[in-house]
Amino acid sequence: MSHAERLETLARLLGPLARRRVPLGPLTTYRVGGPAALFVEARSTDDLRRVRAALAEAPVPVLVVGRGSNLLVADRGFDGLAVKLSAGRSSEFAGVEIEPSGPGELTVRAGGAVGLPVVARRAVEAGALGLEWAVGVPGSVGGALAMNAGGHGADVAACLRRYGWFDLAAQAEGEGDLDRLAPAYRTSSVRPTEVVLWAELAARAGDPAAGRAALGEIVRWRRAHQPGGANAGSVFTNPPEAPAGALVEQAGAKGLRLGTAQVSTKHANFIQADEGGSADDVWRLIGAVRDLVEARCGVRLSTEVRLVGFEAGPSTRRAP
Ligand SMILES: Cc1cc2nc3c(=O)[nH]c(=O)nc-3n(C[C@H](O)[C@H](O)[C@H](O)COP(=O)(O)OP(=O)(O)OC[C@H]3O[C@@H](n4cnc5c(N)ncnc54)[C@H](O)[C@@H]3O)c2cc1C
Repeated sequence: MSHAERLETLARLLGPLARRRVPLGPLTTYRVGGPAALFVEARSTDDLRRVRAALAEAPVPVLVVGRGSNLLVADRGFDGLAVKLSAGRSSEFAGVEIEPSGPGELTVRAGGAVGLPVVARRAVEAGALGLEWAVGVPGSVGGALAMNAGGHGADVAACLRRYGWFDLAAQAEGEGDLDRLAPAYRTSSVRPTEVVLWAELAARAGDPAAGRAALGEIVRWRRAHQPGGANAGSVFTNPPEAPAGALVEQAGAKGLRLGTAQVSTKHANFIQADEGGSADDVWRLIGAVRDLVEARCGVRLSTEVRLVGFEAGPSTRRAP
């Protein structure tokens, strides 16, 4: 079977569960980029089982999409099956439950589709403290585990107890702990075909007023230090030498524009896309900035942003 035939077979097997040529740009915070050949919004583990069964007959590349806050999808799109967990009311992946789990301890259990800021705020209101850092990260619980998201001195690795996972490409699903997740700096063991269904996070009992104050402080700090507009947070991970933003500034690339993309003038590790702009411009700018930093600072930066549908690296010289 050719790739096109596999996609056709998949579409037929999935029926109304799958939609064709769904634009991915609006599902990302960059708000640019092309469509997924096929797209499924899963409301239940049963939906995921149907996807897995269909993929077993007609395997194609899979992209799991969270809140798209760390994704750059090429203008030509993703020529495979994109799967997103639904955050709608009827979805199995949209709940948050907070329960005591020991003296002074609580467990916050959240579905994979729930936004991290929602988790942080709901936890604080329930007197479950320690997750306030998550209010500034606009991703989903699933995306946060995949990326080991973090900030303000904490990250997923510091608070994860257990999580549920489901593999779309193998007859495998189950529960895992921190050892299985193997979180490292902005990455983890989550494979491209693995879906994080839910997570249990550890919190400590405390005064909601203190939590609210911490949330407010984090939101103020973000507004003061980070740009708005269409971006995906930090473009590059921080190398051991220096913060990536400082290196970009040192290389003279702060404010650099290429077509419809620009390095933020507020924070040099952010790239902003113009409204109606091009993902390929963002990609080219990532490559240009990386080449400048390498040439002028002698450090080769790695992208934190996950690049989807680009054939080679965003550089005239090397792949990312
Ligand atoms: C303004 C702004 C500020 C940010 N600040 C921070 C910050 O302080 N700290 C930080 O760590 N990040 C930050 N980010 C980046 C981003 O929010 C995080 O990486 C976040 O964890 C991504 O989650 P997501 O749901 O948006 O994932 P996506 O961007 O949709 O996907 C990212 C990766 O996770 C995978 N994935 C998504 N959902 C699932 C799932 N359910 N199961 C398995 N895999 C999944 C995708 O396949 C992809 O590989 C920021 C982004 C923005 C736009």
